[in-house]
Amino acid sequence: MSSVRDRAEETFRETFGAEPEGVWAAPGRVNLIGEHTDYNDGLCLPIALPHRACAAARRRGDDRLVLVSADIPDGRVEVELTEIAPGTPGGWASYAAGVLWALREAGHEVHGLDVAVASDVPIGAGLSSSAALEGCVGAAASDLLGLGLLDSDEGRSRLAQVCMRAENVIAEAPTGGLDQAAALRCAEGHALLLDCRDGATRLVPFDLDAHDLELLVVDTRATHALTDGQYGERRSACEAAARTLGIASLREIAPSELEPTLARLDDEVQRRRVRHVVTEIQRVRDCVAALAAGDFTEVGRLFDESHASLRHDYEVTGAELDLVADTARAEGALGARMTGGGFGGSAIALVRRGTGDQVAAAVARAFARAGLGAPQHFVATAAAPAERLG
Ligand code: ADP
Ligand code: MG
Repeated sequence: MSSVRDRAEETFRETFGAEPEGVWAAPGRVNLIGEHTDYNDGLCLPIALPHRACAAARRRGDDRLVLVSADIPDGRVEVELTEIAPGTPGGWASYAAGVLWALREAGHEVHGLDVAVASDVPIGAGLSSSAALEGCVGAAASDLLGLGLLDSDEGRSRLAQVCMRAENVIAEAPTGGLDQAAALRCAEGHALLLDCRDGATRLVPFDLDAHDLELLVVDTRATHALTDGQYGERRSACEAAARTLGIASLREIAPSELEPTLARLDDEVQRRRVRHVVTEIQRVRDCVAALAAGDFTEVGRLFDESHASLRHDYEVTGAELDLVADTARAEGALGARMTGGGFGGSAIALVRRGTGDQVAAAVARAFARAGLGAPQHFVATAAAPAERLG
């Protein structure tokens, strides 16, 4: 099977009848912990996956953007840069076109490109195929238009913001900044501690192999759609609670102040949403400390606690994700939790090295017994961020 890079290049040649000027890649991610915290100015802790999206691209002499995806049937879209707007070009191309729109909005001089993308990040699996797509297009645009945003973490941080705006405004998905920061600012062998309040990051060594462990990722294949309203509803509930409390974001609530703060909220649902966010942000801090101490029993316990909080307080897990987490634990995982936005998508489990396939097989049996479709799985390592490949 040809590599993603080869598929992007071949698709470029077939579509445009010429060689691209270069190829750029950006990874999908799994978030280790810190879910639904990004849009609350909170903390999260993603790793970049070896799975990635590639963009083969060249400059055009005009201000048109021509996009093609090897992964979408009839996936060719053309748009004038000045026509890009919420809902235009619409569909998958909005994620890519939105990046050029947001670069221009950020004050950069942007011109037309021919771009062919291909990706092996499973689409809609909660592993951030959308930010991988934005990231590789953003990386290509930055280099081809001479913006230099990949050259420093500060530039990458700005490009991550651009990609987030593309997703929020043009693709109209109200996600926080976790996915784009992971795609652009992670590092191989590390998790990225991201503070969404000010964009500050710290790289946290993440080498499970040295501890005889591995990270199993199970894609439930249950569809999730961040644009279907549930995600936006959670986000609105948090913003409404912050307004009632007179604070800029839920990040401002100290864990020690949680109970008296909750007492000031009349709405029982809002109280649970806030409790998740505040305790989850603290779990990120605790997880970073446990990783530094090599205490993986504690890391696993925090995974479990995070899942329970997302299940009962935030109500974003669903039957499939709960079944993965419960089954993985019963098969000896140190801990397991949903990752990404939820409502389907993927879960992660911290397991003994060499047992990932066995745990995944138990999950597959449990799915079959429950009458659910077959899940997919892989063992994840912390891979590289967006880069130019050639
Ligand atoms: P996730 O990011 O978890 O995979 P999203 O719903 O956020 O799920 O993003 C998935 C969407 O991103 C797809 O429906 C499609 O519009 C777009 N997308 C992702 N990868 C590709 C690709 N390789 N080609 C075309 N569109 C893609
Ligand atoms: Mg996404």
